[in-house]
Amino acid sequence: MKLHEILKQDLRYDEAVNACMNCGICTSVCPAAEFSDYDPRILINIVQNEDDDKIEELLKSDYIWLCGQCMSCKTRCPRGNVPGLLINVLRRYSQELGYFTESKRGRQQYNLHKVLNSNILNQGYCLVPESVKPELHPEQGPVWEWIYKNMTEFYDRIGANLHKEGAGVLRKISDEDLQELKNIFKETGADDLQEKIEKFSEKKAEDLGYDTDSEEGMQQYFLDVFKGKI
Ligand code: SF4
Ligand code: SF4
Repeated sequence: MKLHEILKQDLRYDEAVNACMNCGICTSVCPAAEFSDYDPRILINIVQNEDDDKIEELLKSDYIWLCGQCMSCKTRCPRGNVPGLLINVLRRYSQELGYFTESKRGRQQYNLHKVLNSNILNQGYCLVPESVKPELHPEQGPVWEWIYKNMTEFYDRIGANLHKEGAGVLRKISDEDLQELKNIFKETGADDLQEKIEKFSEKKAEDLGYDTDSEEGMQQYFLDVFKGKI
């Protein structure tokens, strides 16, 4: 099936793409366009032209990972297009088809999957303090290093309830609620997508010469992608 036809099957496509008249208003309000080469007007134009080669290029590029999902474009487009929503569709199929491994930013889907999805399913939060390891996040500075080492004491002192029963910030999420999250992932197909991200990332790691049979090999791939080395 043609790529454009595949994209059109996504329910979000109809809401995202009407007849774009190339006015550029979306670009003028887009923060990603201000700080990078990204341009929502061009993006919507490429997809609207139904050129499969160009769409494949997009799916394999860094381009589709630059949008910050602020949805400013949704409120401004005179034709009711939503480039930010179209980005969701493109990202989804870049993951489904494995094209995300062809770009530097796309490969970072593996990191997000490993950290965020795993946190959500096992702890009920996207991000927990333990995920922000000082050696991987030097931008956090020495204060964070101290907090990281004295985590329990620190979170107690500021009145949080880190990983403990009862109410409060960062409290332990019940097994029942975690099971609900797992059910949501299963029913929405997020589980399948995760498996694909894992499978395609392993294939890419193998192609790049990492020892994918060992945990250390994939850990090294994770770190190299995270640090932008590959
Ligand atoms: S604002 Fe709407 S019509 Fe104008 S270029 Fe962007 S998507 Fe097209
Ligand atoms: S949602 Fe994405 S494309 Fe739309 S304005 Fe925000 S950053 Fe730009």
